[in-house]
Amino acid sequence: MSAGVTTTFDDKHSESSTLTNPTLVLNCGSSSIKYALISDDETTRITGLAENLGLDTARIKHTTLNGEKLEIAIAGGRHELALKRILELLEQYHFIAVGHRVVHGGREYSEAVRVDAHVLEEVKRLKVLAPLHNPANALGIEAVQAIYPEIPQVVVFDTAFHQTMPPVAYRYPIPKALYEEEKIRRYGFHGTSHAYVSERASHITSATGPHGWITAHLGNGCSASAVYDGKSLDTSMGLTPLEGLMMGTRSGDVDPSLHIHLKRKLGMSLEETDKMLNSESGLLGISGLSNDLRTIEQAANEGHADAQLAIEMFCYRAGKYLASLSCALPEFTGIVFTGGIGENSVTTRARILEVMRHFGIKVDAGKNAGLVGGNEGSFHTDDSSIELWVVPTDEECRIAQETRAALGLQ
Ligand code: AMP
Repeated sequence: MSAGVTTTFDDKHSESSTLTNPTLVLNCGSSSIKYALISDDETTRITGLAENLGLDTARIKHTTLNGEKLEIAIAGGRHELALKRILELLEQYHFIAVGHRVVHGGREYSEAVRVDAHVLEEVKRLKVLAPLHNPANALGIEAVQAIYPEIPQVVVFDTAFHQTMPPVAYRYPIPKALYEEEKIRRYGFHGTSHAYVSERASHITSATGPHGWITAHLGNGCSASAVYDGKSLDTSMGLTPLEGLMMGTRSGDVDPSLHIHLKRKLGMSLEETDKMLNSESGLLGISGLSNDLRTIEQAANEGHADAQLAIEMFCYRAGKYLASLSCALPEFTGIVFTGGIGENSVTTRARILEVMRHFGIKVDAGKNAGLVGGNEGSFHTDDSSIELWVVPTDEECRIAQETRAALGLQ
């Protein structure tokens, strides 16, 4: 494929938009692959999702340039086959670069890097820190390499944005040798999202800089960060994406002695406790219903006591974390909500802010109610102590930007 190509769709494809010099963004997970093809001016994109990988029900849900939706079954559900089909679907658009979301970059990577043999080895080696994610990310890189060896690839690490944290935030109070020899420290995740929404908030606020934001990424996974003058100073996730806030199926913070207690009391293995904390806890564990907040909100409205407690705990723990993260900021400009819950649940935002009632935060209820379904805007009153924003996250766009920057394409 050659660089600098503009693909225009004729009426044969009934697609009229153009995708100029597109970058392919791939987010390869253990059971799904999210992808987006984004034009260099970021105005046009094609998106899709391969889901249920590993199962017979595996399929690709593809949205074309003009919004038409296609579903393609993946016989046998093999990862490699799904990737091959995705690349075939997109080949006609002549993408010029591929950017991969990679979950763990360890302490080696503080920015996006072009893939070479060494970088690929590092992504694989860091599987020790992200066993579910990094191997799937490496598979995606190898699949593209096998089919399009000439197309440059870049890895954008979820941990990279948090490499600016100072030792006081990233070290655990445990023996030094574990940090020096085993790299046991806090890394933080959701870096592309925290970077994107904090930069966007700084762009749209009228407050003069430098700005201090707490970014609250509340989705199925949840994390919050303290970002000052564009740099992450602290964040809620740690060595793994389990630490911090209560999430859809993840517990967030629990007593670190829980593993040993459950082993002694119930004979549970470390693996069983790990699975319980990652997959059976959080909103799902407390409500006993679902990890999906919409289902839980509906049940809570109908009087389901465990659903009500799940929401209360989610908001209490989030508010407590946001309050504590404010300690990292030299100046507190405001809070930025994002992710499926942060962008859509008006009541969750209001309840989290109620938990922070000593901060002098004032919510404009009307504006809060209007910020749903992908709307961006503020919802603080004029006399609020800090600003409140909803900024829909766009991790794909950020990955495409970082990919182009790493390749010197902008
Ligand atoms: P994400 O992982 O960012 O896609 O977010 C998924 C979470 O967002 C799930 O818990 C959804 O229930 C929640 N969510 C999405 N839309 C809404 C909505 N309209 N109201 C409440 N929660 C929502």
